[in-house]
Amino acid sequence: MVDVDPTRAAALASQIKAVSERIAAVGKGRNVRLVAVSKLKPANDVLALVQPQEFGLKPQLHFGENYAQELAQKAELLPRNIQWHFIGGLQSGHCKNLAKIPNLWCVSSVDTLKKAQLLDRYRGEFISAFSSSSPESPAPEKLNIHVQVNTSGEESKSGCAPGAETVELCRAVEAAPNLHFLGLMTIGAIARSVATTPENENEDFVTLREQRDLVLRELGLGQDRKLELSMGMSEDFEGAIAMGSDEVRIGSTIFGTRPSKAEAKIKE
Ligand SMILES: *Cc1c(COP(=O)(O)O)cnc(C)c1O
Repeated sequence: MVDVDPTRAAALASQIKAVSERIAAVGKGRNVRLVAVSKLKPANDVLALVQPQEFGLKPQLHFGENYAQELAQKAELLPRNIQWHFIGGLQSGHCKNLAKIPNLWCVSSVDTLKKAQLLDRYRGEFISAFSSSSPESPAPEKLNIHVQVNTSGEESKSGCAPGAETVELCRAVEAAPNLHFLGLMTIGAIARSVATTPENENEDFVTLREQRDLVLRELGLGQDRKLELSMGMSEDFEGAIAMGSDEVRIGSTIFGTRPSKAEAKIKE
């Protein structure tokens, strides 16, 4: 059982409401997905946002996590209608476990061909095992994928290099039978984030947009095919939306500052 503390639930509801209003104000009617980044925060916080109806809000179902094991544990404890996003540094060794989380909706940090192949293979195994064993439950779907691009060129950031490397990885993801290529993701440099305003364009976001256009062209994807941009976090999401972001990933502005990994608890 995961409990929800009413005082905490009210605070979270008011914070996500404020964030949603800020998104809507810059989005000007465009559909921008909000991924609530719950890493290092307890499952109790997630549950409070999945059922905020008493505060007059719609359920929040998209949540982002950075650590494979933490995601798996939360997914086990929490309702199945949550749509989980893995947004952290991806390791090959975690691809198998991740691909078998039935309601993992998207992996946003695919940066090598090998990891794309592993996710494709294990998602495929999972889908076929599922459909033969339990025809009555809903089969897991193809895994949505964002290819992560290292737009800032920083050593410390994951992601593939803009240009040929990005194009070739996107081509492989597009061709993978158990993956659905959704678009591109970047984190960007912190200094540029802090300086981002709706007026001051962030270079990382400019680069991601250019890479998206390059990939659309190089892969010959048709006019009606859209590739989305996942860019924007607490510090810079309004600027990111002004530059065409389709998905923002927001943690601390909703949940408050995070505990250290050693102090984090799955359940409170
Ligand atoms: C932690 C994290 C976020 C959220 O960061 P905040 O600054 O807390 O909003 C977004 N994206 C990624 C990839 C992250 O690791």
